[in-house]
Amino acid sequence: MADAYRRELEIAVEAVREAAQLCRAVQRELDPGVLEKKDRSPVTVADFGSQALVCRRLRAAFPDDPIIAEEDATALRADEGAALREQVVRRVHAVRPDAAAADVLRWIDYGNAHAYTPRFWTLDPIDGTKGFLRGEQYAVALALIVEGRVVAAALACPNLPSYPEAGAKAGGVYAAVRSGGAFRLPLEGAGSAEPVRVSTLADPAEARFCESVVSAHSSHGDAAAVAERLGIAAPPVRLDSQAKYAVVARGQADIYLRLPTRKHYVENIWDHAAGALVVEEAGGRITDVTGTPLDFGHGPKLARNRGVVVTNGPLHEAVVGALGAVGVA
Ligand code: AMP
Ligand code: MG
Repeated sequence: MADAYRRELEIAVEAVREAAQLCRAVQRELDPGVLEKKDRSPVTVADFGSQALVCRRLRAAFPDDPIIAEEDATALRADEGAALREQVVRRVHAVRPDAAAADVLRWIDYGNAHAYTPRFWTLDPIDGTKGFLRGEQYAVALALIVEGRVVAAALACPNLPSYPEAGAKAGGVYAAVRSGGAFRLPLEGAGSAEPVRVSTLADPAEARFCESVVSAHSSHGDAAAVAERLGIAAPPVRLDSQAKYAVVARGQADIYLRLPTRKHYVENIWDHAAGALVVEEAGGRITDVTGTPLDFGHGPKLARNRGVVVTNGPLHEAVVGALGAVGVA
C-alpha cells in the first residue's frame, strides 16, 4: 500500500467499522412492520448515530479537516426531536460509553461543511436507506478528497457476504488509497487485508450489470436498452447503496449503471466518492454517461457530471458508446 494517506486510511477504516457496529445493532432489532408502516425512524436513528461516530473519530485525528456529510443535527436539537435525540444518544452510548448528549450533537455537526476546500472528507453515514429498512444492502461510505480527487476511501458493507460461502451477512470493509490498490478487510476483529480486483471480461455480451433497486434513482428502462444494445442476456442484479461498487471491484459484476431519471438531478459526492476509488484501485473505470471523468472539485455535488458509469475497464468504451447510441448520453 502506498505510504501517502496511510494514516488517513487507517482512521477511516476504524471509523466506518465503529459506525457499522451501531448500524448493525439497529438493523438487527428492526421491527418487521417498519416497511409496511413506512416508519423511517430506525434508519434515521442509525443515520445520525453513524455520522456522530465517524465525525468524532475524524475530528480527533484530523482536527482541521472539513467534513461534508449527508446529515445535520438541526432536527435533533428541536423540541420535537427530543425522542429521536434520546434514541440516537442511546445508540451512540452503546458503542462509546463516554458520549454525552451534547457531545453526540456536536459530533454530528462536525459533518456540516458545504464548501469545496482543497482537502476535505465526505460521508454518507447510511447509504441505501431503503435497503437498510428491508434488511438488505446498505453501506457506510467515507472518502478523503484532495485537490478534487478522491485519495482514500473506506466503504463498509455490513451485509455483503465476503465470500460466497460466508454467511449471508458476514459483511466487509472495502478500502483504497490512490495508487495503493483496493482491499477487503473484515468488518470486525483483526484480520488481514486481501486485495480485490475487477473482472477481466472483454465481451460485453457476457457482462453482468448491477443497478439501484429504486427505479427513481436510476432508469431501469434506459439500462435495459443499453443491455439490449450490448447483447447482454443476464438480467440486472439490483442492490441498494455503494455495495454495487464493491461488487464490481471484486469482479462479481462487470458494470454498474446509474442513469439519470430526470433532467436536472445532480449526484451527491457522498453517494460515489468512496466506491469510485475502490473500483479504480481495483483496476476498473468510472465516468459519467458521456465518458467524462467524475469531478469531485465542486463541493457537495458532482456538478459537472451526469449519471455514473462504472465498469471493469475493458468494457468501458462499449458501454459509453451504447449509452450514446440509445440516446442517454
Ligand atoms: P441507491 O441505493 O443506489 O439507490 O442510491 C441511494 C442514493 O440515491 C441516496 O443516497 C440518494 O442520495 C440518491 N438519490 C436520491 N434521489 C436520486 C435520484 N433522483 N437520482 C439518483 N440518485 C438519487
Ligand atoms: Mg446515499
